[in-house]
Amino acid sequence: MGDDRRRVPRDLRNLRACLVCSLIKSVTMFEDDGCDNCEDFMPMKGNRERVYDCTSSNFEGMIALMQQEESWVAKWQRISHNVKGMYAVSVTGTLPKRIQRELAQNGRFYRSRDVSLKT
Ligand SMILES: [Zn+2]
Repeated sequence: MGDDRRRVPRDLRNLRACLVCSLIKSVTMFEDDGCDNCEDFMPMKGNRERVYDCTSSNFEGMIALMQQEESWVAKWQRISHNVKGMYAVSVTGTLPKRIQRELAQNGRFYRSRDVSLKT
């Protein structure tokens, strides 16, 4: 992994990765639509502050998820049920405690995508 350096189009600056599912989008896209996977239980649509809380600009690696069912990458990243798009291999940062509590109330348990925390 890591050798596949995809070129990021110029209009995709300010990219951030969702701290829950690692979906990569621009700040504006998160603000406009929320996270395609997490908006139901972690709304951030129309709320830039929430977007900054729930996403991180510090991520590594990009994987394009195209064939949801067959992609080994999807299985490896446990994102096989997620929408197609670009996903980060590792996302640095953790979800604020209050949002983690919110998730727990919705029956979702947050698992950090930050591989640097694991040894
Ligand atoms: Zn998400």
